[in-house]
Amino acid sequence: MSTQRLPETFPRWLLFAALLLTLLAVVGHQFIPPRVHTLLPDTNATRFIYGDSDTGGGTRVEWLDYEKNAFRCSRVADKPSHYCGFNLALSEDYISGIDIAAFDELRLVMKVNSTKPRLSIFMRNYNPAYSTPDNGDSAQYIVFNVRTEDIDPELVIGLDEFRVADWWLESHDIPRQYIKPEFTNITLIGANFGSNLPVGAHDLEIVRMQLQGPWVAAELWYRWVIGVWLVGGFGFLLIQSVYYARRAKGSERRYRWLQSRHKQLRDQADNLRDMAQRDKLTGLLNRYGLELSLDTLTRHRDMPVALLLLDIDHFKRINDRRGHNQGDKVLIHIANILNDNTRAGDLVARWGGEEFLIVACDIDASEIYTLADKIRTRIFSEECFSAEQPLSVSASVGAVQWRPDETFEQSLHRADELLYQAKGIGRNCAVTDQPATHG
Ligand code: GH3
Ligand code: MG
Ligand code: MG
Repeated sequence: MSTQRLPETFPRWLLFAALLLTLLAVVGHQFIPPRVHTLLPDTNATRFIYGDSDTGGGTRVEWLDYEKNAFRCSRVADKPSHYCGFNLALSEDYISGIDIAAFDELRLVMKVNSTKPRLSIFMRNYNPAYSTPDNGDSAQYIVFNVRTEDIDPELVIGLDEFRVADWWLESHDIPRQYIKPEFTNITLIGANFGSNLPVGAHDLEIVRMQLQGPWVAAELWYRWVIGVWLVGGFGFLLIQSVYYARRAKGSERRYRWLQSRHKQLRDQADNLRDMAQRDKLTGLLNRYGLELSLDTLTRHRDMPVALLLLDIDHFKRINDRRGHNQGDKVLIHIANILNDNTRAGDLVARWGGEEFLIVACDIDASEIYTLADKIRTRIFSEECFSAEQPLSVSASVGAVQWRPDETFEQSLHRADELLYQAKGIGRNCAVTDQPATHG
């Protein structure tokens, strides 16, 4: 597992930096310089002027200065007038124009010298849904009418101020969804004086024509800001969840390992404690084990207790004649007899080489000899080993009552003396300090 640490929560400095960036993004958006697309002056663009004098109308048109986009419309009094104006072609074929929908203003710098109170600024949008290549008039006619006095000298028209001309809607069969102005394929932008020009000359110079808009629309900009926050937030949560899930898995594995190791060590400790307190050959308590058990026992010394010290007779001889291994087997055999003939609460210990100590609990003084002699008899009556090689084993016992006023060592010392007496009497007998039952 990686040792890299993941912060519990979003680091403060990162959160602060992100908030600061967001603030900058929100406030700063309006200070980003606008995107400007200049249409005029541009000598390469196709520009032309038109009037209706050639087709029988009453308006004549002429360039005053072609380079400066300056032209004049003159009304001839005795003829009806329909149109006269300036066109800037944004498309060679009047089909594939330019998409200006991302801009939000058309900025014009114009010089007007005319008695006509209004001027039309217009565009054509070609859309195959309602336009046909063979009919130039089928492109949507979008117009904005402005008072000449409002051109001062710059005129800024929001694209949302343009309208589709009513005459165009009336002369074409336009489905409802195309009634609003479209700016996605503008083929032409123009300016004209409209119909019914007053008699005389009307001059117009288009100094500059520009489209202006934001590099990124405000709505899109804010969507991005929100989007980045959402992606960042979800991303952080996801990474954090994966990290914690992995860490939890690792911890669980480690916890299980520790648990099993703990059990192993506890078993080992139990074994070691057992080994330290028990005699390896016979499985009986050793001196240390007995002393530990005595500690517990002495805390409940309100019951009578007896000590029986038992020593196998002529054990050296058994070893000498049958070998040490057989001697060990005799020790195990005796241990079993002792276990079988004592009660659950009694303590049975191997006290020395072939010497055993029984701490018999809850036993009346009168029963001590009975117990000691019963054990002695069992040992003597049970033959060790097979029928072919029978071996008769006997033991001597010194048994005392552990008096309340004496220590364990004092009592044991008396038992040892009695055992010595038993050996002196001739072995294979039990001697107690209870005169009434003295064997
Ligand atoms: P007594 O009747 O006076 O008690 O005579 P004894 O031979 O039993 O006593 P002694 O103290 O002379 O001999 C004890 C023998 O026990 C000596 C020793 O080799 C033997 N012995 C002590 N521990 C072990 C043991 O773990 N295994 C075997 N096989 N023999 C042991
Ligand atoms: Mg001995
Ligand atoms: Mg002996």
